[in-house]
Amino acid sequence: MRIAVFPGSFDPLTLGHTDIIDRALPLFDKIILAIGTNSSKKYMFSLEERLHFLKETYKDESKILVETYSGLTVDYCKSKDSEFILRGLRNGQDLEFEKAIGQTNYKMSGIETIFLISSSGLAHISSTVVRDVMRHGGSYEFMVPKVVKTQSN
Ligand code: ADP
Repeated sequence: MRIAVFPGSFDPLTLGHTDIIDRALPLFDKIILAIGTNSSKKYMFSLEERLHFLKETYKDESKILVETYSGLTVDYCKSKDSEFILRGLRNGQDLEFEKAIGQTNYKMSGIETIFLISSSGLAHISSTVVRDVMRHGGSYEFMVPKVVKTQSN
């Protein structure tokens, strides 16, 4: 069984994330969307809200499981019998950042990171930009899935 873990903050879930998840679905038997909870980051959305965004969006997709985890991503992968980490790449900056993490994870565990490049027209979307636009009352709806749009802030 080919199991991938897609780790992220999903603060909030965007159409950039769903693009990567949807395109990875045919490649794996199961994809675990895993919200990491060990960072000292300040989030805009609570863990419950972020879980809800993922669970609601993928409620009819039997291959998808939504979980939270703490500690090293590779340790979490092993606990789930997952041999793959899924990540998205938007640009060269993402590549440089992800390269170091992917290489370190492979050295530590033999777990391969599978990268998908964002679909044309979606590389500008990031949770950071969505949060900034939301804070300033701008229209962010074109960057997020339905469940995030209906979230009142
Ligand atoms: P993290 O805090 O771990 O970076 P994010 O929720 O910001 O978590 O991102 C999770 C993953 O989704 C990362 O691999 C990121 O590169 C990818 N991603 C986010 N936005 C996009 C996008 N617009 N296109 C492709 N991949 C994306």
